[in-house]
Amino acid sequence: MGGSDGGAAAKSVVESKEWYLAAYAPENVPTSDHLKLRSVTISLEYDSVADQHVAVQLLLISVDPYLRSTITGRDGDLYLPRPPLNKAITGFGIGRVVRSKNKNFNEGDIVINPFSPVAEYSIIPADFLRKIDQTTDIALPNYLSCLGVPGFTAWVAIEVLGNPKPGSNVFISAAAGGVGMFAGQLAKLKGCRVVGSTGSNDKVQLIKDEFGYDEGFNYHEESDFDVALAKYFPDGIDLYLDNVGGKLLDDVLNHVNKGAHIVISGMISQYNTIPAEREGVKNLLNMVGKDVKMQGFLCGSYLNQFGEFAQLMEKYIKEEKIKPKHKINQGIESFFESFVSLFSSSNLGKVIVQVAT
Ligand code: NAP
Repeated sequence: MGGSDGGAAAKSVVESKEWYLAAYAPENVPTSDHLKLRSVTISLEYDSVADQHVAVQLLLISVDPYLRSTITGRDGDLYLPRPPLNKAITGFGIGRVVRSKNKNFNEGDIVINPFSPVAEYSIIPADFLRKIDQTTDIALPNYLSCLGVPGFTAWVAIEVLGNPKPGSNVFISAAAGGVGMFAGQLAKLKGCRVVGSTGSNDKVQLIKDEFGYDEGFNYHEESDFDVALAKYFPDGIDLYLDNVGGKLLDDVLNHVNKGAHIVISGMISQYNTIPAEREGVKNLLNMVGKDVKMQGFLCGSYLNQFGEFAQLMEKYIKEEKIKPKHKINQGIESFFESFVSLFSSSNLGKVIVQVAT
């Protein structure tokens, strides 16, 4: 739910901290040479806001892997637009309207914006804003996790594309993260046997204890994925939701059942590597012998089904059939560290930065 306006509405000029892209990062984990923090002065006077624009104070910003693929300075991969240099980067954010020159939005409205500048304050077109109903008891971070992109991606992967039958053997990588935690819970609700891989023993415990996974393993501790997959899937894999790509995907291909489905959401293990040096997949021939279907997708291609998803997910949240787990870091300063944490197995759950309350 919303909260107070923090006094922002009373201010006419603010010093706003923002993260901007100083240089593209073609390979390796981005550093402070690429993403930098600066302070800019913004007038929030009514006359400073252009027609059909609103001034927004950022409350929460989602920290997502797709940002990594957009700042390589290369085209291709996810085919998302390349952010311009020297401008504030953007992400899925929740903010409070502090000035409005659009009839659909009033001061005090809480809004979600897929192109939210990672900035304490911004003046933006109202086109992509959606109001969040503040009369429900759904906590705001949920709109960036189970009711946002990670939850929707998990739903598309499991319900729309994978659609496993009860009793199917389902494998999910990056199982404790935003997409993985909801995918695992959705597959369990469909009566599947679900195994996840993730990057720490605490996360293995989390997916089993809180998300209902039947089994899990720490991929950092497995020297041979073939051996691990044989152990956890004695009856083979019917559906693999791939969030990581690389060697794990290659080894999954040796354990698929006839008619198996591989749904590729992303390949985070390859995001810091230039295309020529990425791990190749050698076991594709299994797809022929086992009639396997492999399919990549972007959740944005399924937006026409978002309403159906949101209705179901809200019901599951109220019934506590789906449990979210958030890693909420405090202050806009923590955005860079939060982003880099996506590549080190150091977080737990969906990573979000709380910028203001
Ligand atoms: P997330 O899982 O919350 O965070 C990323 C996680 O990936 C990290 O916490 C880390 O967890 C794992 N990871 C990082 N480097 C790795 C490596 N080298 N090998 C294996 N695992 C590694 O992020 P998310 O937002 O839910 O995204 C998960 C995947 O879905 C990403 O590939 C992302 O690009 C994709 N995605 C796709 C769509 C779509 O529309 N297709 C939408 C959203 C996200 P561990 O502790 O397990 O290592």
